[in-house]
Amino acid sequence: MLNSPDSITEEVIVSTSEKVKNICSTSATGDDDNLSTEHFMFQFNNTIKKQLSSKNSTWIPWVNEENEEISLFRFGRSPGYAEKEVRLLKTFEWKLYINKTEMDTSHCALLSDIPRSLRTVKVLVQLLAIVDNHKLCEGCGETENYRWLNNDLILYKTKDGKNAVYVENEKIRSTNCQLFLPNQDRMCTACK
Ligand SMILES: [Zn+2]
Repeated sequence: MLNSPDSITEEVIVSTSEKVKNICSTSATGDDDNLSTEHFMFQFNNTIKKQLSSKNSTWIPWVNEENEEISLFRFGRSPGYAEKEVRLLKTFEWKLYINKTEMDTSHCALLSDIPRSLRTVKVLVQLLAIVDNHKLCEGCGETENYRWLNNDLILYKTKDGKNAVYVENEKIRSTNCQLFLPNQDRMCTACK
């Protein structure tokens, strides 16, 4: 049918265009606003910022043009570096840093629905909203309180030699930490 242009009716064109529209919206999880490193600053200022409803939402965007990576920083009380950072690699895979330490987010139930690659504004906004609106586990305490046990904290290894704790900004957190808590608890079960 498509070989003969005369036979393409309006109906066929409309239905094809509808199909294309559906394919596009499905591939972009219902939001055709695909993230782009090139246009990220524009996207952040014009779309993302407006969708972040929380008043505590004070993300500062930065695009590393050399590595084609995007970083979103949130500063806390510690001067100098970001308390929280969401980093999007060139592949749009995301990483979360707390006090410059990369976190394993696989134990966080709240983040389990967020795909490993962030393709759309919509999913990025969902991720930032989780970070904004939930309490971060306080971890297991200050490194100072543990020094007497072992000077270099080497004690905190699992049986297979992996690190059992993160040391971030003089604080200790379990590597199984659930990070963002769904309730008002101060610590997650792994850090208690
Ligand atoms: Zn924890």
